[in-house]
Amino acid sequence: MTVRLGDTLTGEVRPLEPLEPGHVRVYSCGPTVYGPAHVGNFRAFTFDDLLVRYLRFRGFRVTWVMNVTDVDDKIIKAAAAEGVGIEEISARYSKVFLDDLATLGIRQPDVLPRATENIPQMVALIQTLLEGGHAYRTDDGSVFFRIASWPDYGQLARLERVDANEMRVGERVEADEYGKDDVRDFALWKGPKPGEPSWDTAIGPGRPGWHIECSAMSMRYLGESFDIHTGGVDLIFPHHTDEIAQSEAATGQRFVRHWLHNAFLQMGGQKMAKSTGNIERVPEIVARGVPARALRLALISAHYRTALSFSEESLDAATAAVERLDAIVAALAAYQSDAAGDDPTVGALLDGAREAFVAAMDDDLNISPALAAVFDLVRELNRRIAARSMSTADAGRALQALRDLDEVLGLLPPADDALTPELQALLDARAAARAAKQWAESDRLRDALAERGIAVEDTRDGQRWRRQVASRV
Ligand code: AMP
Ligand code: ZN
Repeated sequence: MTVRLGDTLTGEVRPLEPLEPGHVRVYSCGPTVYGPAHVGNFRAFTFDDLLVRYLRFRGFRVTWVMNVTDVDDKIIKAAAAEGVGIEEISARYSKVFLDDLATLGIRQPDVLPRATENIPQMVALIQTLLEGGHAYRTDDGSVFFRIASWPDYGQLARLERVDANEMRVGERVEADEYGKDDVRDFALWKGPKPGEPSWDTAIGPGRPGWHIECSAMSMRYLGESFDIHTGGVDLIFPHHTDEIAQSEAATGQRFVRHWLHNAFLQMGGQKMAKSTGNIERVPEIVARGVPARALRLALISAHYRTALSFSEESLDAATAAVERLDAIVAALAAYQSDAAGDDPTVGALLDGAREAFVAAMDDDLNISPALAAVFDLVRELNRRIAARSMSTADAGRALQALRDLDEVLGLLPPADDALTPELQALLDARAAARAAKQWAESDRLRDALAERGIAVEDTRDGQRWRRQVASRV
């Protein structure tokens, strides 16, 4: 079995054959740090994380790069509004971004390059394009990519038959872009303007355009040709279309093997977007009691190329699902059986679940049947726990099998979930009160634990505790 992945450019789903066998190089368009990202943005980033986790689970070495755009019009505007430098704005919202990644269980990319730290690489790329006749300067010190010099332009967005003059319909033409030779041409470098940050470089003073950032940073860390590039569908045109043109015009090589574009997270039937105003943010959702792992599940729960609707109902369903996972983990960890031997059906059950999970994910990360395999397994295990048919060792194997799959999903409570001494003392006191049949005292201690976010349950395996997912202590 091999991993098969889609590719927006060709419209195919085909086997992933990394350029370097066993080593997959992935570039994800990251955030523009001018404000806190919304959960729509985090649909893109949780998808990136799921992809990278799955490739690692399948034994690939993965080098994952995600850029941070820390110079752009919106950042400049935000800085001007507050009367501070762009560094202050980008440092503030980079931190918020990293905090949100951690909340959502998104592992940090191997490299998180910042645009402002890669200006020499962008300048070198622009110089190559100028020398090759693919770019030209305008009077104000800007440099534009000459689309007419690149006949393949627009394949990703299937623009072949679109009239040249319509190609950038809807895009605002900056007043300072009227010096362009062709309306379709896009800025690689923006000449200096009063009140804007500017770098003194070999191509003159100014600042980079957005598209060149991603070409320069991806090729710096992953090479001129690499395996996977991700981003939301809104980036297909113009951002990724322009990335392909300028990268391939400069290197003469195919830039990317698989383009993976996630569809939108919608709320109220529309794309979640700051401009529409229908946004929600990670800390706000968690603050109103939604477990972070439920939010993660809600964001990964549909195939990446299909639209996903975000609502209170979707969060409630995800919360219930995460509670089921917590309950099975607690039950398996506490399970003690005096069964003489192992249950002969457990091995096949665990293997079957893993096979179904892998078959689904190998098929272009088909998450719905993969999740169904996990929740079917949970149901079967609950049945065996109730029937006391498993051995203690079976329960240990089952927990390990769930934890293995969770390397991909990131939905289970952490394994090293040790209690504070205070909580442990309360649990011990409650167990003692029950043993002494002091029911009132035992109930009082149950309430005290509940107030601290610990739910206790009395089972045949004795008192069992788990964290109430909504409040972590
Ligand atoms: P930005 O910071 O605006 O460049 O966006 C960061 C990432 O989030 C990009 O890959 C966008 O395509 C993606 N994105 C923005 N809005 C949504 C949405 N509503 N659903 C899914 N992805 C989105
Ligand atoms: Zn990008």
